[in-house]
Amino acid sequence: MRSPQLSLLGLFPRDLDREDRLGEADVAIDVEPHPSFPGIYWAVLEDGTKRLSTRNLALGKNVYGERLIKFKGVEYRVWDPFRSKLAAAILKGLETIPIQPNHKVLYLGAASGTTASHVSDIVGEKGHVYCVEFAARSIRDLLNNVCVFRPNMSPILADARIPEGYSSLVEKVEGIYCDIAQPEQAKVLADNADLFLVKGGWSMLAVKAQSIDVTKEPTEVYRREALVLKVRGFKVKETVPLEPYDKAHVMIVSQYF
Ligand code: SAM
Repeated sequence: MRSPQLSLLGLFPRDLDREDRLGEADVAIDVEPHPSFPGIYWAVLEDGTKRLSTRNLALGKNVYGERLIKFKGVEYRVWDPFRSKLAAAILKGLETIPIQPNHKVLYLGAASGTTASHVSDIVGEKGHVYCVEFAARSIRDLLNNVCVFRPNMSPILADARIPEGYSSLVEKVEGIYCDIAQPEQAKVLADNADLFLVKGGWSMLAVKAQSIDVTKEPTEVYRREALVLKVRGFKVKETVPLEPYDKAHVMIVSQYF
């Protein structure tokens, strides 16, 4: 199943010719594949800084004002860890990224596509990103500014707490990325996993302590969410704190059995 929502709406990626799509991109000094994570790169910029990047699937288009750079004829998007918890987790030493080229990923809480667009870059043309978001304004921006240029993304206007509502639009996925900043995030993730995640598949859960319980210590909140995952059939592989990029946030990576 490909781009179900786009198809339903009769909207397809614009058939831009190559000339139109090539926007202005700065030249990087060097770009090398990340040693551990396929689809992710290190770019060295002209000031000598090394920045995380992904290969741009929508040539000439940026999503949130991020810089476009070119190296050996290939365009990359610089990935901002202050805007994306996934980039922050990588910089904070995450060991497993269950999002890889050709994967199908269910993304809960896609907002206007900042991180989801990098996930789209990573999984590439043969992968797919199903983007669930319940805020109408965000999903409109996601559709108009991101998904129309990226055939591997499907925007789905829905409540992630009710996965049955979009079960006809999403196929089985290898990974779920959950960043809904709501109470009961682990439960929401597990309910979605029961329907969509293959056995042995992986999940990433961005936990914001305050959105779960302001009266509890963050470490207690993280422990409770991890416990919910364990009870629901996940094996927690690692928990990575995201400071200084994001305060009182961790990324919990787990495998589903
Ligand atoms: N993951 C995004 C990124 O990195 O670009 C940021 C996500 S933001 C922290 C949380 C998003 O989850 C918001 O856009 C919010 O509307 C959405 N959200 C919260 N609860 C939701 C639910 N039950 N179903 C779908 N979306 C939800």
